[in-house]
Amino acid sequence: MTNKKYVFSFEEGDSSDKKLLGGKGANLCGMTQIGLPVPPGFVITSEACLAYLKRRDKGLQKEVVDQVQEEMKALEKKTGKGFGDPRNPLLVSVRSGAAMSMPGMMDTILNLGLNDSTIKGIIKNTKNERFAYDLYRRLIQLFGSIALGLGDEVFDDAFEEVKKANNASADIGLDGGAMKEVCERFLAIVEKESGKPFPQDPYVQLYLAVEAVFASWMGKRAVDYRKEFNITPDMADGTAVNICTMVFGNMGEDCATGVAFTRDPASGENRLYGEYMVNAQGEDVVAGIRTPSPIMQLRRQMPEVYRQLETLRRTLENHYREVQDFEFTIEREKLYCLQTRNAKMNAAAFIKSSIDMVNEGLISEEKGLLRIQPDMLAQLLHPRLDPNYAAESLAKGLPASPGAASGKVVFDADRAETKSKIGEKVILVREETKPDDIHGFFAAQGVLTSRGGKTSHAAVVARSMGRPCVSGCEQIAIDTAAREAVIGGVVLREGDMITIDGTTGNVYQGKIPAIEPEFVDDLLMILEWADDIAKIKVMANADTPESVAKARKYGAVGIGLCRTERMFNQPERLPIVQEMILSESLEERESALERLLPFQRDDFKEIFKIMEGYPITVRLLDPPIHEFLPSADELVREIVHLRELRKTVQGMANLPDTLKLINPELHDRYSANLEVITHALDELKNQHLAETMIEAKESMLQKVRALAETNPMLGHRGVRLGITYPEIYAMQIRAILEAAAEYLAEGGQVSPEIMIPQVCTLEELKWVHRYVKKIHKEVEKKFGIAVPFRFGTMVEVVRACMRAGRIAELAEFISFGTNDLTQATFSFSREDAENKFLPLYQERGILQHNPFEVLDIKGVGRLMMITIEWARKTRPDMKFGICGEHGGHPDAIRFCHHIDMNYVSCSPPRVPIARLAAAHAKLKEKEFVFI
Ligand code: ADP
Ligand code: MG
Ligand code: MG
Repeated sequence: MTNKKYVFSFEEGDSSDKKLLGGKGANLCGMTQIGLPVPPGFVITSEACLAYLKRRDKGLQKEVVDQVQEEMKALEKKTGKGFGDPRNPLLVSVRSGAAMSMPGMMDTILNLGLNDSTIKGIIKNTKNERFAYDLYRRLIQLFGSIALGLGDEVFDDAFEEVKKANNASADIGLDGGAMKEVCERFLAIVEKESGKPFPQDPYVQLYLAVEAVFASWMGKRAVDYRKEFNITPDMADGTAVNICTMVFGNMGEDCATGVAFTRDPASGENRLYGEYMVNAQGEDVVAGIRTPSPIMQLRRQMPEVYRQLETLRRTLENHYREVQDFEFTIEREKLYCLQTRNAKMNAAAFIKSSIDMVNEGLISEEKGLLRIQPDMLAQLLHPRLDPNYAAESLAKGLPASPGAASGKVVFDADRAETKSKIGEKVILVREETKPDDIHGFFAAQGVLTSRGGKTSHAAVVARSMGRPCVSGCEQIAIDTAAREAVIGGVVLREGDMITIDGTTGNVYQGKIPAIEPEFVDDLLMILEWADDIAKIKVMANADTPESVAKARKYGAVGIGLCRTERMFNQPERLPIVQEMILSESLEERESALERLLPFQRDDFKEIFKIMEGYPITVRLLDPPIHEFLPSADELVREIVHLRELRKTVQGMANLPDTLKLINPELHDRYSANLEVITHALDELKNQHLAETMIEAKESMLQKVRALAETNPMLGHRGVRLGITYPEIYAMQIRAILEAAAEYLAEGGQVSPEIMIPQVCTLEELKWVHRYVKKIHKEVEKKFGIAVPFRFGTMVEVVRACMRAGRIAELAEFISFGTNDLTQATFSFSREDAENKFLPLYQERGILQHNPFEVLDIKGVGRLMMITIEWARKTRPDMKFGICGEHGGHPDAIRFCHHIDMNYVSCSPPRVPIARLAAAHAKLKEKEFVFI
């Protein structure tokens, strides 16, 4: 029977097998095999770890012990040293390393093999007592805290005491004698705390350390981490252990240790970047025991080593064809490389290095695209808080619309508007917002609400306008009447400066500097490469000429969703919309609609112009109409105020007489003024202003109550409204077609698409299609020009999926409204789900993701596939798109590509992300697995 091989030397390990050898181990093997200066060593596989964990009470398996011993013998041969040999002792490090980098597992133990007798050999050979005891104290502390679980504080405290007694501010201030004292104290600590003396047998040290690494795989921190980041056993299973001959950066002034990147990870610039520390070991650089020096300094300090580093940098990149983040140690002016891995960088650095590496011939364009995660691009598309500025947040809400903004607090939309007119930057702070507040959104830099989720009115509107928004920040108590808010214990008055970060949900007091987004040439180039490769097109959800222009700038090739109701929401339009809703007769309603028509037509024309020739998909009115009216509560409050006003006015008439009675002197002093006021109020009273207002509000209240629905999202909305009030849809259809005709007449190109929301049966479509045909004829006749258009529907009702074959008889395109379709498929109302049970569902693993954020491919996606299949049976060239929020998410885009959809549509700032994701979808199409 042949024994399973559990141990591989760096020379023999298969560097492509990260699962077996761990990331660190595989790369140590790889670097060794291409001739880089890696100290000799070997890897104990993750399989050995798994086998150990199955029977851990029996200790390390015999095969593993045997194979480790054999490799140790080989190491002794390679280095000419002996493990535990006092004349020339071999020291090693024991390092953990799984297939994926994972904090929470056991840290590294250095200088293993030292004991009371081998240290003598070190002292004799180096004639450097201080160095020897520095090594030993590190080993005792690392072994004690990591392998024996003693905790660092006891050691740190003792170390501080010795430093103090010797007047040393840092470790380098201690001489050999002091270091020796540290070791003695440390040895005593180990014995006292663990009840056993520090193990003197090097092999006992080694096996205990290996067992500790293996066991740490199942430690709570590591298990929690894997759960949190969804690291499944097929990604990483067990950890490997690396045993590596020690090299010493702490032997004197010609030694150092450091970390470096092969390119600048902040800018991507092609130059060595990093830090080093002279006379130091291991993690001293990152632990901050002293201030490290920038790597450029090494060029002067040790020019020869710097040259070696430059060579190392090039060799690493030529081999890995990716920017590397590596660890090195310099021992007596000789460079060793101890670790390398792909560098984590920001988006700008990824983009720049992709372009450079393609130009240098290091990678292909495809690879250059694939190494950039699409979501990263968000970093470049919104203003963000200056990362160099440390600030503590007052409170945290939901990151509802990304970007950072600072401004003075205002508590209502009107105030926001007046302040912004005089050039002030403001943040609108509300409990929640309504369409009535829309002018406040235009005026404000950002919006902060104390209630509502990521789909609340505030969040949706802010996103569509690209305004930063933090919603549902429950730590805020707003007192609108007193014009103040309490946030995390701090009282903010109107006019106080705050900063919100819609990317993280944080709220800060005062102004925090922000960095503006840069749509740099490099990004444009990357996106051009992406467009050449992608098959699925990227359009945008945009409703105003302003946001359509932004969408175009970001590279959208059309508008996949233009929500006409957003056009109603402007300050000069909303009153007309309200008048239309409150109309008692068809004539009244038509008259209001007639006044709305030019607004819509002009907007459409503007949009057609901006998107010259690209498809513009206009969705007819969708939300329940009471959304355009104030809430019943609000109206009741206003009516109460008005009634009070009326009483006050009446009371004022008696004021002069009453005052005369109470205080004649006061009366004499103010009688003239009082006269003026009472006179003015009399006039007001005679005009019956308050009464008129009260009547208007009361009738509105009646209407609001009449329109109230138990389940508005499943109620009177979408095509159902269009059928009950055909004049509304008629106006919108006319506005679209007339705008198209006008622009065509001016020589422009248009391709309007009329999209009907909430359809569940072909009959509904037929009904609307009848008016479309009629109005189309009228418009063509009126303008004497042929107006092309397409007629289609949104699919967001489950029944529509099931009847896709019939619906395709009339619909020329279908756009999946995955927000509503997800609600319908799960029978979850989004707001309730996200506020009440979804977090718990995710925590308990009942649902892996929030389906409103991550498209539910198994359920909703399956419905989409059925719809496509059945619709294309009727109409093979049916055009399919997605316009729900998912349309901007890389995983959803990948799925949409896979099921052969024509386009995705997302908010303008996500367009670049979607373009890159569309290219990724194409490049990775072979690897797609439908789960
Ligand atoms: P981590 O995964 O936390 O980076 P490492 O195993 O890389 O842990 O080791 C921690 C520190 O010790 C690093 O700075 C590394 O370079 C250093 N180190 C590890 N092994 C050796 C060795 N054999 N000789 C010198 N330094 C080492
Ligand atoms: Mg570490
Ligand atoms: Mg490391």
